[in-house]
Amino acid sequence: MIVVMSKNATKQEIDNVEKKLTELGFRTHPIIGEVKTVIGAIGDKRLLNTVNITAMPGVESLVPIMKPYKLAGRELKHDPTIVDIGTASIGGNEIAVIAGPCAIENEESFIETAEKVKEAGACILRGGAFKPRSSPYSFQGLEEDGLKIMAKAREKTGLKIVTEVVDTRDVEMVASYADIIQIGARNMQNFRLLHEVGLTSRPVLLKRGLAATIEEWLMAAEYIMAAGNEKIILCERGIRTYETSTRNTIDISAIPVVKELSHLPIIVDPSHAAGNWKYVSSLSKAAVAAGADGLIIEVHIDPPNALSDGPQSLRPAKFKQLMEELVPVAKAVGREIIRPQ
Ligand code: PEP
Ligand code: MN
Repeated sequence: MIVVMSKNATKQEIDNVEKKLTELGFRTHPIIGEVKTVIGAIGDKRLLNTVNITAMPGVESLVPIMKPYKLAGRELKHDPTIVDIGTASIGGNEIAVIAGPCAIENEESFIETAEKVKEAGACILRGGAFKPRSSPYSFQGLEEDGLKIMAKAREKTGLKIVTEVVDTRDVEMVASYADIIQIGARNMQNFRLLHEVGLTSRPVLLKRGLAATIEEWLMAAEYIMAAGNEKIILCERGIRTYETSTRNTIDISAIPVVKELSHLPIIVDPSHAAGNWKYVSSLSKAAVAAGADGLIIEVHIDPPNALSDGPQSLRPAKFKQLMEELVPVAKAVGREIIRPQ
């Protein structure tokens, strides 16, 4: 950080600030200008927790030069993080496509969907057992029974599974079934939940909050990483804007911005962004073209009768067609789509 001294700061005040910073463990480099003096201070900003440097006589302001997200940022780790899921890796040259219904509704339909998305080329299966719904009267998910169905689908298809946890009390139980734990948009700033999943060893799919800035999203990742879990996959799922033609507005710029700021992989959820199956294909291709490391897409065998998010779900045949259309888009940006093993 840089401590900017005021124009009228005396030599004594400058020396006092420098002495204080040195005592706290910073290495200091004063730069004496014609009008003002600034002091460059190198060290962990947390050393300042006990002292208010801005209140010292002669200090005008403090300017941080490092991003607040130390573990999630690129400043301290330049190489991309590749999250290994066993049958697929996310964040390398290959693009992972995750697919499945919004919610697990029953065993028969879930297994049929799992087989169909696998056949179409998805490498990971999604499904919600705990559904954070806008209305308390909507279907809330099958909870642990849903997770058992997911585990059966994994056994049958070999696809790894991703599912959401919404409550700190369920983290251990969800982690015992899931290969990837999802933190939904509505819980992106549920810091206790972030800490709790940070204590597990499972990769975490961290969705961007409905109205979260990229910095807030990376700080949410920082919470998980600070608890010890560095296996994070960020997921752009559309943000709230004034536009009402789509459920949310996909923030395509988030992909190159996150790539610059963070070493973590980023995937895109075109289904929750669009809210309408008709736009899912275009948004998926745009995401891949912009550098996304993967996609998570809702697929349902009977969308009109889905218990949640039917209008934005692709039928398996449309999903298969999209998988084929993604191949040349990925190729155009020097990448390939992972095929299921
Ligand atoms: C979901 O993936 O089903 C979901 C609820 O997503 P989001 O948290 O992005 O709304
Ligand atoms: Mn959904």
